[in-house]
Amino acid sequence: MSQLLKITPFGGVGEIGSNMTVFEKDGEYLIIDYGILFPNEDFFDLKYLIPNIQDIPRDAKVTLVFSHGHEDHIGGFIHIINYFENIIVWASNFTAALLRKKMEESSEFIRINTFSLDSRIKFKDFYIDPIHVNHSIPETHGLCFTSNDIGIFFCSDFKIDHQSPYEEPIDSGKINRLMGDKKLRLGMIDSTNILVEGKTRSEGELVNDIEELVAGNKRLFVTLFSSNIHRIQTLINAAQKHKRKIALVGRSVRTYINVATDTNVLDKKNVQIYTPDQVDDFNKFEGIIILTGSQGDYFGALRRLADNEIREINLHEGDTVAFLSKTIPGNEKKIYKIYNKLTAQGANIVTARDKLIHASGHPGQEDLVWLNNNVSFTHYIPIHGETLFLKRHQEFIQQQISKNKHHPCGKLLLYLNRQQT
Ligand SMILES: [Zn+2]
Repeated sequence: MSQLLKITPFGGVGEIGSNMTVFEKDGEYLIIDYGILFPNEDFFDLKYLIPNIQDIPRDAKVTLVFSHGHEDHIGGFIHIINYFENIIVWASNFTAALLRKKMEESSEFIRINTFSLDSRIKFKDFYIDPIHVNHSIPETHGLCFTSNDIGIFFCSDFKIDHQSPYEEPIDSGKINRLMGDKKLRLGMIDSTNILVEGKTRSEGELVNDIEELVAGNKRLFVTLFSSNIHRIQTLINAAQKHKRKIALVGRSVRTYINVATDTNVLDKKNVQIYTPDQVDDFNKFEGIIILTGSQGDYFGALRRLADNEIREINLHEGDTVAFLSKTIPGNEKKIYKIYNKLTAQGANIVTARDKLIHASGHPGQEDLVWLNNNVSFTHYIPIHGETLFLKRHQEFIQQQISKNKHHPCGKLLLYLNRQQT
């Protein structure tokens, strides 16, 4: 007799980072993501942490599907393909290109199957369909598992963005088409922003303020997450409009822009984009200088700029340094140190507190209500987030259910602890 489907979070539940969820049936495994977790100061010499996969036999038949290309979802790629002897890998085109970059820097190689929105992946008696969702990196997908009577919508990182200039909103219609008729309809949903009331801002809402920054500053330093290609697209569009050049300082921003251009998720238009060695004299450079290191990391370009360690670039009195990113909790001290050093050199600091130049990539409470109103789940499991977030997410959905006694989810609500099925 066929076994039940067993779902086990190996990472990303009860913590932020190292995301990995394992679906197991009849001795076969389908794994979603294999990410890293950046350690805090308590882990002195560790570069990163990865989920422990040694409970799964090395010779097991494994299908690995990546939801999107953030490091906390793909960062352990080389380790996992090295561990399993019999592994098939699936990723979208853009994510696959990021994975190939990792293989170029290692001695591992595996063929990556790319999926599009029409693709279906088979796992035992389930079909898995990718669902387009919004997030802070292009080509992010939820995954919809369907068998005869079960539908599971697994949605790790996502937001709901109805005004993005760059992509369609989350495809809730496809989720309903695929699992609307199933007896059991389970949602496994991102908890990262559950403490945030209201709706997450759209990427489209940032365009005006980013354009104003570009228009009002001939020389503008900008730092942001290098993987946020849509925000970089907004900068490129503004640069084109105001006839500014762009210079990239730091390795990761160059890598992401190259991969995004090669896979057609970024349009460089006619904007000239320089690397530091292509700029004759940075003191005369008039344009946008994009720097890595928005979290104040030691090796990032921003920290090096603040400490005058970039030989070619000096700050001028009145230069603007804009943070198109949030401060990840825990990094405040490092970032404030940088604010102060930049201010001492005469720079003006602009952050998301001053202008609308950052929007989160995760759903706020109202977005979760929207999802629940548009997809009628019978069962619901909060995933991705620290323990408090999971608990709050459970309570929040419970409140929504009690407001609506006809809600189909009223029968059962699960709260999943790490490593429990
Ligand atoms: Zn993500």
